[in-house]
Amino acid sequence: MGGTFDPIHNAHLLAASEAVYRLTLDKLLLIPNRNPVHKNSEGVASGEHRLAMVRTAIRSLPRATVSTLELDRTGPSYMVDTLRALAVRHPRAELLLVAGLDTIADLPNWHLPEEVVQLARLVGVSRPGYDGQDIVAAIHRPLPGARITLLPVPELDISSSEIRRRVRCGEPIDYLTPASVIRKIREFGLYRNESR
Ligand code: ATP
Ligand code: MG
Repeated sequence: MGGTFDPIHNAHLLAASEAVYRLTLDKLLLIPNRNPVHKNSEGVASGEHRLAMVRTAIRSLPRATVSTLELDRTGPSYMVDTLRALAVRHPRAELLLVAGLDTIADLPNWHLPEEVVQLARLVGVSRPGYDGQDIVAAIHRPLPGARITLLPVPELDISSSEIRRRVRCGEPIDYLTPASVIRKIREFGLYRNESR
């Protein structure tokens, strides 16, 4: 499960927890990206701060670990490079790419999408406003070989952008992200003066 995690929030954690439980995963890696290719990376919190927030958030999440694969690599964070590296490192593993349906819908625009879907089965986690069946059909047009599993979860209308907006405006973010993440946001002084 890749992401900017700026910051990690309860919908990420619910998706991770449900994926582990429903798909009986041996291991789930949360992989914070370095230079989000599809986002304006200006103003993204440092990798170190995002990593610290992911670490504290997943302390009680069974089978989850954080991977610094993308943070340790220079240049843009292409998922295809990450999957290639994981396939080399774990040659016997079946790789699954867990992502929200907004992210899955965008996959045909990624770098080397054909190879991405060869390397991993896609797991599309429901997200408010996105229809799983429509997105599966839309993916299969350009990528007929894509293997996709839809993972329905209780939908939470939470986004990192909304959390950043709330912090900037001095509004509460309780129950949108764990208390330990809120403490890190305060400790690091994140998101207070942003133009985004
Ligand atoms: P931003 O608002 O900055 O884009 P975000 O909340 O979308 O942040 P990302 O770091 O972009 O979080 O997303 C990481 C992964 O988590 C993506 O696969 C995304 O689709 C998924 N995701 C994020 N929020 C939700 C949500 N509310 N429900 C389901 N999946 C989500
Ligand atoms: Mg996003």
